[in-house]
Amino acid sequence: MSFTLHGLPVSGGIAIGQAHLISQATLEVSHLLVSPRMVEKEVARFEAALASVRNEFATMKQSKESGPADIGAFIDLHLLLLSDPELSEVPKQIIRERRCNAEWAIVQQMERLVEEFEKIDDVYLRERSYDVRQVVERVVRELAGHGHASSRTRGFKGENLIVVAHDLSPSDVMAFKDQHFASFVTDVGGATSHTAILARGMAIPAVLGLHNARQLIRDKETLIVDGTRGVIIVNPDQRVLEEYELKKSQIELERSKLKLLKTARATTLDRVKIDLLANIEEPDDIPAVFESGAEGVGLFRTEFIFLGRGDMPSEDEQYEAYRKVVKGMEGQPVTIRTFDLGNDKNLFEDREDERRDNPALGLRSIRLSLIEPKSFQAQLRAILRASKLGKVRILVPMMSHGHQIDQMLAAVEQAKSSLRCERIAFDENIEIGGTIEVPAAALAVGMFLRRLNFLSIGTNDLIQYTLAIDRSDEQVSNLYDPVHPAILMLLSHVFSSAEKANIPVSVCGEMAGDPNYTRLLLGLGLRQFSMHPAQVPAIKQRIKQSDIAEITPIVRKILRCDESAKIQEQIERLNAM
Ligand code: PEP
Ligand code: MG
Repeated sequence: MSFTLHGLPVSGGIAIGQAHLISQATLEVSHLLVSPRMVEKEVARFEAALASVRNEFATMKQSKESGPADIGAFIDLHLLLLSDPELSEVPKQIIRERRCNAEWAIVQQMERLVEEFEKIDDVYLRERSYDVRQVVERVVRELAGHGHASSRTRGFKGENLIVVAHDLSPSDVMAFKDQHFASFVTDVGGATSHTAILARGMAIPAVLGLHNARQLIRDKETLIVDGTRGVIIVNPDQRVLEEYELKKSQIELERSKLKLLKTARATTLDRVKIDLLANIEEPDDIPAVFESGAEGVGLFRTEFIFLGRGDMPSEDEQYEAYRKVVKGMEGQPVTIRTFDLGNDKNLFEDREDERRDNPALGLRSIRLSLIEPKSFQAQLRAILRASKLGKVRILVPMMSHGHQIDQMLAAVEQAKSSLRCERIAFDENIEIGGTIEVPAAALAVGMFLRRLNFLSIGTNDLIQYTLAIDRSDEQVSNLYDPVHPAILMLLSHVFSSAEKANIPVSVCGEMAGDPNYTRLLLGLGLRQFSMHPAQVPAIKQRIKQSDIAEITPIVRKILRCDESAKIQEQIERLNAM
């Protein structure tokens, strides 16, 4: 039966493919497709892991024979579960039929069994789902010691697979980056959540906030994802399928036309040159930056490379990543943002004690860096070392107090002097900037302008904090409004203050990559935009069709208005000019 679901349109375009259901547990193991000739080897790998866990349990049982009876009973139960065809045979079928790696196959089967157990009324039997989990976890650990399937699955592309999940963390999406899924749809998540930002960066359609897609959609069902309208069509009929195939090829044609602008200058009709820079998450994003025609990196979100790994990266590991980016950019400017960890981006994803009630207002970003001076020094030294190889700027996120800026500047000085002592070269005149993401920073921007070389406005957080809207929470996403009068007042205040102080300012939040706001931002005074490479061609086209002299009086009128509906109306007129 065909049906339609509606959610938040977070990344435009159309994807047509097969549903690929995943859940929290399945996310914790790699999802790899085994090549047909390696399937039997993967089955053998699974059998070997199972046998070794069985042996381990048997040995444990012998040594506990003289111990408490309940331990023996517990081991017996686990041995029984391991021998049950549901865990010993069905995963092999899954490996053969779906060509999954062994870890993924057994975890999928575990999910199914746990779901069955949880439907049982009897409390004792229901609780056996914990035993199933424990046994499977043990097998998965064992599989880790039996080689990894990844080397045998290189070249796998999930091009027609559409990931359907309850939720995806930014590190899940980073892990999927290599697998080229066609699209993401999730039950939760807001339009400027980092998951949404990553989907836009990968230029794949995505719809979030669908509430119960994970329950309504079945594995392998055909899906159409319309990321522009936020619509999912499940099991479409032939006519609808053909209609969307046509729309999809029209979008692809438009995109390839836009690519022709790659070498064109981003200049307005009245000849004002605009800088278009790229936001990146890892060194592998560099080819996309060149492909897009961006003139440098305006935001390198360094924390993404290390998400979920469980420890802080060393100075050398970081230097290696920054070196790759700086060298890869061949002399074009690279703005490296110091770690913006905390909130939804963590190195320790499963540590309960890392979670707080209000993570967005807590110990995140520069606050975390300043209380971990050793780690902060390692990052600053790594960035400074890379500064010798090209044109590097340091960007520090989420500062709100003058003393924080001073403390940060002192830390940079300390890193510089330690490098000098060790006779390690770096750029002595490296520029240091701050993001404007907290309303206090926007209002009291003078304290930033007096101390720093440049500013970058992070509108995603600025909107979140000004309107008190959690950017990751789909339940309040209808209130997330980039053109709320208060936001426009803050933006205008920052642009005009920076201009008076002769300090360059860019916007690196999602607003900069949305063509609906290009003219508004130009009229407010923005001359430097930073966005995901995939968004650069569309913004360049919009800039080339705009006349700042014509736009500015209309934007001034918009600024005098404090009714959102009227502002929206005026922006539509501005865009239709
Ligand atoms: C922002 O807040 O607008 C920004 C660019 O930073 P992030 O999205 O990484 O929080
Ligand atoms: Mg931010």
